[in-house]
Amino acid sequence: MSICIDPGHSGSDPGAVANGLQEKDLTLAISKKVLARLDSSAFPTHTDDSFVDLDVRAVIANNAKAQYFCSIHINAGGGTGFESYVFDGPHSPETDRIRDIIHSHVAKVFAAHGLPDRGKKSANFAVLRETAMPACLLELGFIDSTLDSSYLRTDSFQNELADAIATGLNEALGQTPAPAPQAVPAPPPVVHVPYPGSLILIGSRGNAVKMIQRVVGVRDDGIFGPVTDGAVRRWQDAHGLIPDGQVGPLTWAKMF
Ligand SMILES: [Zn+2]
Repeated sequence: MSICIDPGHSGSDPGAVANGLQEKDLTLAISKKVLARLDSSAFPTHTDDSFVDLDVRAVIANNAKAQYFCSIHINAGGGTGFESYVFDGPHSPETDRIRDIIHSHVAKVFAAHGLPDRGKKSANFAVLRETAMPACLLELGFIDSTLDSSYLRTDSFQNELADAIATGLNEALGQTPAPAPQAVPAPPPVVHVPYPGSLILIGSRGNAVKMIQRVVGVRDDGIFGPVTDGAVRRWQDAHGLIPDGQVGPLTWAKMF
């Protein structure tokens, strides 16, 4: 499962800057932690501070035929908490399914620290629009929030975020567990009805005749008449028995 992790911003584009932090440093640190928690097929759009254009990030993922693209960002602008994005144009149900799983894991980390879940959003971000595979963009708290940034700068919070993102990715994209075996309904117990003890044939009446009529598919009036006789003969013929219209031990045993 090749997952492309995209550390938001780099080089001459630091992203949001506040509280002594730069977005590009946080996204690179968190992305490295996420990658360390994924299998070796996962890869980043960049591993250092070299500048990578937005379009190039998508091209990297597309050329590598990544199966999923996850862009890591830190928000700014006067809010607090976590939000996630998918493309606001046409996208696959898989895009929503995977985002939902990642979102729920990451939102739990924020909630555990009293930080709000700002919701599942969509936007026309280049990396979401230009990538050929399902993709999401995570805004992991606000760099310009005193509270958010106090967490974001810590290794432990970054580890929690990386755990949650990797867990979500693995859950959504990891090896699909073999489907649980379907419970096979037990066949109805075979109840052998003992043979009544005498031939049942045209002229017979009673409950045994009704049972036979239900097996051969005629009205179960309990009267063994010509209609029942014909049906019994056809049934016997179809079941490899002598079609004599007489229900003796052999026919009875096949019927019940
Ligand atoms: Zn950003």
